[in-house]
Amino acid sequence: MTSARDLSARLAELLQRERAALAEFLVALADFDRKRLWLELGHASLFYFLHRELGLSCGAAFYRKTAAGLIQRFPEIVDPLRDGRLCLTSVVELAKVLTPENRDDVLPRFFHLSKSGAKAVSAALRPAEAAPHRAVVTAVRPTAPALAAPAAQDPIPESPFHPDETPRANPVPEPTPTLPVSLPRTVAEPLTADLRRLHVTVSRRLMEKLAAARAALSHSHPGASEGEILEAGLDLLLERHAKRRGLVEKPRREPPAAKPDHVPAHVRRAVWKRDGGRCQWAVDGGGICGSTHQVELDHVVPRGQGGPSTVENMRCLCRFHNQLAAREVYGDAWMDRFTVRRAKRRVLSGMKGARLE
Ligand SMILES: [Zn+2]
Repeated sequence: MTSARDLSARLAELLQRERAALAEFLVALADFDRKRLWLELGHASLFYFLHRELGLSCGAAFYRKTAAGLIQRFPEIVDPLRDGRLCLTSVVELAKVLTPENRDDVLPRFFHLSKSGAKAVSAALRPAEAAPHRAVVTAVRPTAPALAAPAAQDPIPESPFHPDETPRANPVPEPTPTLPVSLPRTVAEPLTADLRRLHVTVSRRLMEKLAAARAALSHSHPGASEGEILEAGLDLLLERHAKRRGLVEKPRREPPAAKPDHVPAHVRRAVWKRDGGRCQWAVDGGGICGSTHQVELDHVVPRGQGGPSTVENMRCLCRFHNQLAAREVYGDAWMDRFTVRRAKRRVLSGMKGARLE
């Protein structure tokens, strides 16, 4: 009876042979391509030979064609393919960034990577490449699973790859959106070291909220992209969560000790509300100044004379009348130590004595 250990050893041996066979196939394919023998057989390119003559799928043909091309320029990738350090799906990403100058440094960075890992590395190595920002909305229609399953006997589709065209990032044609709505996909595709393209299935309700949020942010964030709007919303969510958990970024310090001349917040609010935020200085012609420019809170009986910070002893004054009131109490000589603007001083002198209580 075969033990699990024996079977495991057998599988490891078969895997090794599979990798060796793949490497051997690719080396032979590279030689075939170098001699352009596909042309003799009537094909427009190595890709078409692999796809039509050998019956490989578009994706499988593309991976092998890319690897064969890379082997011709960088034969050192054969050994890693043979021993399993480099997988075929990573070769497409490696081909985007490998150069004669960086070959020693870059090749090892693709060892033992999955396809998505290789994508991230190649994206990080191309940070200067312009990554287009785009937002695309496509309708996803629910489709019966039987209709979504590919038919095995389908005729070979016309290849999406023209022999002269630059290989597309994704060699497998994007499937038409036939996923059942119960199986939304979320895919993040690395574009550069920092940028990702996010494919996410959302409801129409979310699109309406996104449009409403864009309108709401049109003053503070004009021209914001969908990504920026969603990030702003997520920031709010995370901030709220952090507050609930007491995880505010900067823990609040102990409130400073109250100063003797501190005016309590509730007094400030009450005075401001009572005076309507307007200067209460009584003017000669009757009524009050009423200015709302640079309005400050003033003690009717000055603090220096023992006046308390109460609603009854406080009022709103514009800065001009606040300084005038202080002059009446403390005198010009004292106030001039603080007020050095000569022009203003002249005005204040002319208005001396105008305070009416
Ligand atoms: Zn005033």
